[in-house]
Amino acid sequence: MSLYLLAVSYAAMALAGFLIGGAFQLLGLVPTNHHVAVFETQPAWNYTTFLDLAFLVLMALLAWRFVTTGGLEMLRVHARRPGADAKLVQDPVCGMSVDPAPAAEQIDYEGETYYFCSEGCKETFSKDPGRYIGRPKTAPGA
Ligand SMILES: [Zn+2]
Repeated sequence: MSLYLLAVSYAAMALAGFLIGGAFQLLGLVPTNHHVAVFETQPAWNYTTFLDLAFLVLMALLAWRFVTTGGLEMLRVHARRPGADAKLVQDPVCGMSVDPAPAAEQIDYEGETYYFCSEGCKETFSKDPGRYIGRPKTAPGA
């Protein structure tokens, strides 16, 4: 995946560099008929038109890649509000909403399963579970 990104961004940079180089070559020819260019008021079919077209094609290509490689699904996932369709539970340590997916950090404690946002919260919980489930830790000697 990173190789693919590297190749695409390199190709885009190389293409942009090539286009700008071509534009400067064309610019070098401009002074010979400068008086024409200055008083030209109508849209002209000149090098900027080709640049615009080239970038339109590039944009279309990138948009097509975006759609075909799951970009829309990614946007949908990002736009989804937490809790809209996933059943989230609360991290008892920091209070964050956690998706109780199989990959989530979790602990089974006294018949209940607790989920955590991170390994750190899980460790904090396991050191003193009673503090985070609304029950005071049994005091020694009490
Ligand atoms: Zn946490």
